[in-house]
Amino acid sequence: MLLQLLSLSVVFIGGISAEYKNYDGFKILEVNFQNPRVRKYIQEIDKNLGFMPDFLGENWKQKQAHYFIDKDSVEKVKTNLASNNITYQLRDVNPQIFKVRRRRDINGAVTINDVNNKYLSYDEQMQFLSSIAQQYPNDVKLQKIGNSYEGRSLTAVRIGDDGSSKPIVWIDAGVHAREWISYNVALYLVYTIVSQPAYRDLLNAVQLVVVPNTNPDGYEYSRTNDRMWRKTRSRFSNGRCSGADANRNYPFFWGTQGVSHSQCSEIYCGSRPQSEPEVMALTNAIQREETRIKGYIALHSYGQEILYPWGHTMRTYPSDVQDLIQVGKAMAAAIRAVNNTDYNVVNSGDGLYPAAGASDDWAKSRGIKYSYTIELSPIDDYTGFSLPEDRINQVCREAFQAIQVLMIEVRSKFAIRQTTSSASSTSAQSSLLLKRMRTAVRGSGRG
Ligand SMILES: [Zn+2]
Repeated sequence: MLLQLLSLSVVFIGGISAEYKNYDGFKILEVNFQNPRVRKYIQEIDKNLGFMPDFLGENWKQKQAHYFIDKDSVEKVKTNLASNNITYQLRDVNPQIFKVRRRRDINGAVTINDVNNKYLSYDEQMQFLSSIAQQYPNDVKLQKIGNSYEGRSLTAVRIGDDGSSKPIVWIDAGVHAREWISYNVALYLVYTIVSQPAYRDLLNAVQLVVVPNTNPDGYEYSRTNDRMWRKTRSRFSNGRCSGADANRNYPFFWGTQGVSHSQCSEIYCGSRPQSEPEVMALTNAIQREETRIKGYIALHSYGQEILYPWGHTMRTYPSDVQDLIQVGKAMAAAIRAVNNTDYNVVNSGDGLYPAAGASDDWAKSRGIKYSYTIELSPIDDYTGFSLPEDRINQVCREAFQAIQVLMIEVRSKFAIRQTTSSASSTSAQSSLLLKRMRTAVRGSGRG
């Protein structure tokens, strides 16, 4: 405990630790896996290299896998790839990502303008939510669902909770700390849906619950100490390393595939299911009202993908997978309509690596029909987690359209009372997209 307090003080004195992690000499490894032989090598890259490199994501358009290679492993990786006759590129890391971000002293209230243009601190995110709750007291309620390991409050924003039993769409963001864009998308969603009268009808029929920051300890650590931090900040007795991958810690096929049981791994699944207080809080909160939750999205980055279950193993799908694909494609179409950005709709287990213990699989296992993970923009590894701040707003607007499509689908399938007044033009547009996608997808199913 004393150690823990000491290490915290390093972070908080003066706002920024002097020891922001230096990544000089680190490289991004890109491998094109179109060739089945290369794909096989990649799928067993941990065995081939003797360690699992930090998998950043994949570019589905170019069929490229991206890894973050530490400077001491670069030579070893090069030798191994060459001896296996694998073509690759080693790229420098975008220096933008490692600029220490000083706490922005936003004077006065944090506004939507800040959300659209800046990555905010956890405190600023919470300030923003408080001001929205004050401004829209009838529509927005802040609910504390638990504490993080370091004692930060985990806040759920309940929108349109009128005490009725209308269906719920649940959105959570930022379980992986370095995926900064996800937090802004969640905050933008909260603001937009309550501030624009066009969404009134939708909120009358469907409730929205948003947890804009599911890993506040990890996020703050990524801002102050280590930009590439992904995990929680749990400390372990006798442990050299801290934190678990909260998105491998959910209690469904926990610890089986695509995880590590080693504390130092980026994909450490924790000592047991729900070992992470953040995961315990989220699973408890969802279970309290799970019969009403009909849609679930976990916001991540990067890769521009809409992933549907099951992800814990390959080539295994829920019985209603066609419904998930159909709505997934309607969400992708709604995103494309904003600015022609392509999102791929794909099963989460059929990519390069299945991953057990993720939140979308668990949500689906609890009976939540439409359960997804969205990997937000960008798609390229150079921009990766350092999506420039001038692109925040566009990604927010795109994701908002996708979430709206899901809410409309939940309304049409599950709402108890249908609204009678005319739908907003944007809602009507999304309904139309959905209808079109239904026609397009019907009969084209996967085996
Ligand atoms: Zn992620």
